[in-house]
Amino acid sequence: MLNIYGDRGNIISLARRAQWRGIDVNIVNQGVGGAVDVEQTDLLFVGGGQDKEQLTVCEDFKGIKGKSIKEAVEAGAVLLSICGGYQLLGHFFKTGTGETLPGIGLFDAWTIAGKRRFIGNVLVESQVGGEKRTLVGFENHSGRTFLAEGTPPLGKALVGFGNNGDDGSEGAVYRNAYGCYLHGSLLPKNPWFADHLLLTALRRRYGSTVTLQPLDDAVEERAHQSVVEHMRRLGTVRSGVS
Ligand code: GLN
Repeated sequence: MLNIYGDRGNIISLARRAQWRGIDVNIVNQGVGGAVDVEQTDLLFVGGGQDKEQLTVCEDFKGIKGKSIKEAVEAGAVLLSICGGYQLLGHFFKTGTGETLPGIGLFDAWTIAGKRRFIGNVLVESQVGGEKRTLVGFENHSGRTFLAEGTPPLGKALVGFGNNGDDGSEGAVYRNAYGCYLHGSLLPKNPWFADHLLLTALRRRYGSTVTLQPLDDAVEERAHQSVVEHMRRLGTVRSGVS
């Protein structure tokens, strides 16, 4: 239901980066109905979608699906959500036609549709995992997301509109759960973030001594850098890119 602008590529990226290191992956697709297996789940992914799909997913989230997602995150599972999925993990999404879709309130945040769509490349500076690094992606949303005081963003939008086109924030973080507006797919061209998610999930299950074998990310890094340089050439970068 929630897989737009190649968001499913994030699952492929996570699975491949694990498998290249000899780590077995079991992918469970969640349809409408049923719950997430709280015990067995290490990492959850929720992609983006149009308002129409969000309406169906919002109904599903009201039942045991939403409850189990919250339980899994409270138990330390890692979660990545993009755009429409991210919006439904906040308190609510008020659509352009005035309907209010309740979210599960995992993120202390809410979303209200604006008249203008925010479309274009995004460059984010993020300090998730300790080091200051960049994330590149593509946004396309009418929803403006507002973070409650005390909710940390995923980072700062150096290019693009970010959460709401106003406060410079992009995404949200709660425990090991992340929300953001970066389609793309996001993870193939931001391998450091993919590995951060994998390592966090593995350490939670197998202990803090787990490390990840480095991979040859030359192609991925070139893809990332070419986007950063393209934005620099356009002169749209606000500040902070090293
Ligand atoms: N319908 C939502 C919005 O436009 C989400 C769109 C998306 O996931 N790309 O804000």
